[in-house]
Amino acid sequence: MATEKEIVVSGIRSTGFLHLGNYFGAIRNYIRMQEDFNCYFFVADWHSLTTHPDPKDLRGNVLRVLAENIASGLDPEKVALYAQSDIPEIAELYLLLNMLAYKGELEKVPTFKDKVRLSPQNVNAGLLTYPVLMSADIMIQRAVKVPVGKDQEQHLEMTRNYAQRFNNRYGYLFPEPVAFNFGDNLVRIPSLDGSGKMSKSENEMATLYLADEDDMIRKKIMKAKTDSGPAAPDAPRPESIVNLFQLMSLVSAPDTLQFFETAYDNQSIRYGDMKKQLAEDMVNFIAPIRNKARDLQQNPGYLNRIMRDGAAKARENAAQTLQQARKLIGINYY
Ligand code: ATP
Ligand code: MG
Repeated sequence: MATEKEIVVSGIRSTGFLHLGNYFGAIRNYIRMQEDFNCYFFVADWHSLTTHPDPKDLRGNVLRVLAENIASGLDPEKVALYAQSDIPEIAELYLLLNMLAYKGELEKVPTFKDKVRLSPQNVNAGLLTYPVLMSADIMIQRAVKVPVGKDQEQHLEMTRNYAQRFNNRYGYLFPEPVAFNFGDNLVRIPSLDGSGKMSKSENEMATLYLADEDDMIRKKIMKAKTDSGPAAPDAPRPESIVNLFQLMSLVSAPDTLQFFETAYDNQSIRYGDMKKQLAEDMVNFIAPIRNKARDLQQNPGYLNRIMRDGAAKARENAAQTLQQARKLIGINYY
C-alpha cells in the first residue's frame, strides 16, 4: 500500500507585493515540498482585512500573490492553490476554536501587541483572534507541517494548544502541527535598514520585492545600512553586516560569498564593492520571477481557473474535517 503523503498547509496575506522574506521564509519551502507532500497553499484574503480592508485592492492583490507564487516555481498541478475565502468551512472551524481560545493569551501575543502600539485606532477583534483563524486554516486540512518564517513560530505554538484542547475535550481529531523549514532554523529576512523584518506592509525602501525593477533593486541595496568597516582582523560582525552576508548567502555563488567573508576577516573589504556584487546577483535572482509574474497577471482567466480548482480540492478535505468536528462536539442532530 502506498504510504499517505503528509499534509502541509501555509498561507500568505494579500496585503501587497511579495518580498524576499516571503520567498525564503515560505515559498522556497513550498516548492521543495510540492512533490513529496500533500500541499494546500492559500492566499489569506480574510486575514488581509484586519489591516487592508480596501475593496478596490483586494482582487488584484489576491491574483498577484497567486502569480508571484507560480512565477517562483510553484506548480498548480501538484498543489492546491486557493483563496482562503473560498473555503467557508474555515470560518465555521474558526468559530468553534474561539471557544477554546482565551482572551488573556491572545492579548499577550507579541505581533498583536505590536499592532496595538503601531495603530491604536484599529485594534479590531480580527487582529486579536488572528492566531485562531490561522489555526483554523491549518487544522481544517489536518496538516502536520507548516512551512513559515520565524515570525510565525509563536502562532504555531498556539495552534498546537488549540489542537490539544480540542482533542482533550472532544476526542482525537487534530494532529499538532509544527513550523517547518528545510534548513535547521526558521528563516527571518531582516529589512535593509535593520529595523525589523522585511514586510509587505511596512518600510518599502528597506524591503526587496519580487516585483522590483532592476534599478530599484540596485538602489535599495546600495542604500543598505553598513558601518565604518572591521576594526580588527576577524572582528565580530555587527548586525547590519551579518544581514548583508545573509542576503549574499542566499543569492550569490559560494565563492563570491567566500571572497567577501575573507575580505572582511582580513579587513580589506570595501562595502561598496560587496553591495555592487550583491545587487547584480539579486537582480539575476529577482528579474525572471518578476517578469514571469507580470506575464501571468495578464491572464486572469488562467489564475481564476487555478484558484477554483484549488478551492474544490481544499473544500473536499475541509468538509470531511468539519463533519467530524461537528460530530465530536455533538452538533449532529439529523
Ligand atoms: P504583512 O506585513 O502584510 O503581514 P508579511 O510580509 O509579514 O506581510 P505574511 O503574509 O504575514 O507576510 O506572511 C507570509 C509568509 O512569509 C509567512 O510564512 C511568514 O512567516 C513569511 N515571512 C514574512 N516576512 C518574512 C521575513 N522577513 N523573513 C522570513 N519569512 C517571512
Ligand atoms: Mg505578516
